[in-house]
Amino acid sequence: MKKLNRRQFLGSTAAIVAFTPSILIANRSAVAGDAARVDPNDPQAKALSYVHESPKADNLCTNCQLYQGAADAAWGLCAIFPGKQVAGGGWCSAWVKKAG
Ligand code: SF4
Repeated sequence: MKKLNRRQFLGSTAAIVAFTPSILIANRSAVAGDAARVDPNDPQAKALSYVHESPKADNLCTNCQLYQGAADAAWGLCAIFPGKQVAGGGWCSAWVKKAG
C-alpha cells in the first residue's frame, strides 16, 4: 500500500470533508422522495391517530417540530415514523408546535 505524506493526507481529508455534506444532502433528498408514505391504518399510525388531512386547521405536519420536510412540501419525513413520509397537511397526536 502506498503511504501518503502529510500534505497528501490533508488534501484527501479536505476533499472528503468538502464533499460529504453535499452527498448527505443529495442522499437525504433521494431517501425522502423515495420513502413510502405512512399508511393511516398501520398500527403505529393508528395508535397516534395519524391522518393525511389534519382535523385541526392550525396543527399540520408542516408546522410540527418533528416534520423533516420543507415547509411547503406536500410530503416529508417525520421523526416519529422513521423512513416514511407523512402528508404536509397531515396530523397525529404527537404533534408539537415547531419552534420559531
Ligand atoms: S409527529 Fe405527527 S404531526 Fe408531527 S410531523 Fe409527524 S405525523 Fe405529523
